[in-house]
Amino acid sequence: MAQVLLKQVTKTFQNQQVVKGIDLMVPDGSFTVLVGPSGCGKSTTLRMIAGLETTTAGEIVIGEQTVNQLPPGKRDVAMVFQNYALYPTMSVYDNIAYGLRNRGTSKKECKVLVEEIAEIVGLTSYLKRKPSQLSGGQRQRVALARAMVKKPKVFLMDEPLSNLDAKLRNQMRVELTSLHKQLGSTFIYVTHDQVEAMTMGDQIVVMNDGDIMQVAAPMDLYQEPENLFVAQFIGSPA
Ligand code: ADP
Ligand code: MG
Repeated sequence: MAQVLLKQVTKTFQNQQVVKGIDLMVPDGSFTVLVGPSGCGKSTTLRMIAGLETTTAGEIVIGEQTVNQLPPGKRDVAMVFQNYALYPTMSVYDNIAYGLRNRGTSKKECKVLVEEIAEIVGLTSYLKRKPSQLSGGQRQRVALARAMVKKPKVFLMDEPLSNLDAKLRNQMRVELTSLHKQLGSTFIYVTHDQVEAMTMGDQIVVMNDGDIMQVAAPMDLYQEPENLFVAQFIGSPA
């Protein structure tokens, strides 16, 4: 677990500010959702926290450490992508174990960890299969398991359910919420779907056009939106 702090974080692409000096506190152990319309800067923000994108200005602190200069592998975070990013030729086991490879984890330790995580996400009987032999939901679980096996303090998820059908998406929402409770790690979850945000998050961060509009618990956001944008986006009564 770790708290994540953003201080005046800015990202500029080709003279265009897409993240405009945002301040944000993500509490230790929270399920924080970044929500907002397409193009508002959610993925860029998440990628800066992950270290996949540099910051143009500002500071990112994870736990006690300023991480601006640290590569992704040294940040104690794990990212789950929308398109799973699984290796098609590797078995489910190897896909999950992949995250441990470059850490010098022994084969034996690796096996214990992979089996433990596979059990949690319900993949125990699928470890020998290839990704192509799995359903969309099972592939998404492999992607999750690959992040979990590293036991990071912070999970970063960018629209991880957007490729799933509605039924599976609902099921995975419930599973992710219970996984969060079970792990007690800090989750930062990006979605453009306000329903998903409101049902999953304990802290919702509403973004628009590179800025943070409001940070609040779901009920507070709904009952006391601070501006018209938030009210309309969340669908609060007028
Ligand atoms: P969101 O995830 O909220 O949909 P993004 O963070 O992906 O938004 O993008 C925010 C803005 O930054 C968009 O206008 C997008 O086109 C732009 N952008 C994102 N990545 C790059 C990049 N690598 N180069 C140039 N512009 C980018
Ligand atoms: Mg995005």
